[in-house]
Amino acid sequence: MKRYESLRWILLAAGVFAILGLTGMNVYSLYALHENTLASDRKNKKLQIAEFSDRLRYRFYKPYYGLGSVDIERLKNHFEKTGQFTDDVKELLKKAADDAIYTDIYFIPSGSNVCQSEAPILKYHAGKNKFVRAPFYPAVVCDGTGIARTQVKSLLEHYRYNNKIIFDAHRSISIALINAPEHSIFGYLTMPFNQHFLIEYYLPKKLVEKFGDSGMTVWLRDWTHDTILAGSDTSSTYQRDKIQFVQNFPDFFDYWQLEVSFAGAPAVAASNASFVKNLIVLATAVLLLLGALVFMFISARQERALAQRQAGFLANVTHELKTPIAVMQAAGENLADGRVKNPERLKSYGTHIYKEAIRLRRMIKKLLDIAKADAGQALIDPEVANIKDLVQSYIEDHQSYIENKGFLLQTTLSLTEQMVMVDIDSFNTISSNLVENAIKYSTHEKYLGITLSSNKSEVLLQVEDHGIGMTQKDILHIFDKFYRVEDSLTAQTKGHGLGLSIVKNLVELNEGRIEVASTPGKGSIFTVAFPVFNESTEASLQKIHSISSQIISEPFKKEKYVR
Ligand code: ADP
Repeated sequence: MKRYESLRWILLAAGVFAILGLTGMNVYSLYALHENTLASDRKNKKLQIAEFSDRLRYRFYKPYYGLGSVDIERLKNHFEKTGQFTDDVKELLKKAADDAIYTDIYFIPSGSNVCQSEAPILKYHAGKNKFVRAPFYPAVVCDGTGIARTQVKSLLEHYRYNNKIIFDAHRSISIALINAPEHSIFGYLTMPFNQHFLIEYYLPKKLVEKFGDSGMTVWLRDWTHDTILAGSDTSSTYQRDKIQFVQNFPDFFDYWQLEVSFAGAPAVAASNASFVKNLIVLATAVLLLLGALVFMFISARQERALAQRQAGFLANVTHELKTPIAVMQAAGENLADGRVKNPERLKSYGTHIYKEAIRLRRMIKKLLDIAKADAGQALIDPEVANIKDLVQSYIEDHQSYIENKGFLLQTTLSLTEQMVMVDIDSFNTISSNLVENAIKYSTHEKYLGITLSSNKSEVLLQVEDHGIGMTQKDILHIFDKFYRVEDSLTAQTKGHGLGLSIVKNLVELNEGRIEVASTPGKGSIFTVAFPVFNESTEASLQKIHSISSQIISEPFKKEKYVR
């Protein structure tokens, strides 16, 4: 048995560990999945931003698609002759001049020192479709050309294309026209940006178009001046602590950057929500599983304890049945032999047989009650009765018995005419069991109090003793079949742990309830409450009388009497 007990504990522990282990793994994979979702969402968003900045850059080149196939040598010759570009290149210039991104188009031939001296600078005139002399020097043009000059110089040796585009931060774009085979530069087309158009119209529009409902807010920030130039969500305000990453514009818009916040992104919110939902479902499942496991374990232990108690009960009962039979057999034998003639002894043998027969009958009745309840049959026949009369009659019948046991009997019957509807036999069985227990489980102070009182809806019968009492833990079990408190007095007292389970069963069959208040060493009070019978239950009564007897099923459970 002991071996199996440890095995059971080991299996329970293994089960709990397995559940917890599986749960841990599940939580971990849920978390990893959640993190992955967030990471891929983040990655995806970064890609979108990078793609946006690339597209923007190509947008600036757009008017010059086609420049790559222009013969720079030919263009240079034409320019040296006419002071103008060839028609195909002028077409491109015209397109660029129409583009609102640029304010003007300037041309600075290589080798000219226009920006150092007061030499005139060429500016494209769209109406005339040719270069004209500009009236003044825009500094931005000279800056742009200067930057382009420096950058192109260093790569000219191995450069294979006929043009190179260079940005001067957010101010201008310069295209160096390169004669690649000769490793020489023909000149620089420099176009200042229309910053007003970019900041006020173009970039805000593009940001809203691209990221308006992308689940992220993208800001265009001039970090040199610490100003926000535009944002994809016009209704929200920029908060630096909400920014999750920053993307520069590679090669251009050096002073500007895109700053991104993910707050409220639908994918993130959905992932968070599903993560939380999954955790809740998992936690509930685990709790249910653990609960079921523990419940199975506990109920198996209880079943085992019950089986042990039942086995003990059988052994006891067999022994107790044998004792009166043996006494009766011996006394009967003596009488049958005709050897006993003395009237005194005859009477004594008769009394022995009578008493043992009563004891036997009681035991058999108890066994039958239990057997009936176990088999699902408990016969009750409720009737309307005056509770005070019932208690009084019980006391009259048992007063001398109680007092002969050395008990001080105190009765307080404060009710006058309260009616209840109970089965009289059940009532007597209940009272007898409670009184018997009070007698059995009292040692020094032999006191028995029987009190009858009522509240609005119930009458309360209390049986009080000043005996050994019980702990709260024991109280939880005393109504279980075969349960006996492990105590030296209980060990010495005859009983099988059946009385209170029968009492509870009968109380509930009679629509009542039972409670115990007890203090170890001080005594116990058992309170049985029955509903008061009144006018409103009269109709039910009619029905009851029409039912001659009633089978109540399910032992040891509260069963509704069919009314
Ligand atoms: P039995 O008395 O035959 O053992 P019961 O079902 O009547 O069985 O009672 C169950 C257990 O409850 C008893 O063994 C005893 O330990 C405890 N008990 C019952 N009544 C009292 C009482 N009045 N005072 C102390 N303990 C009691």
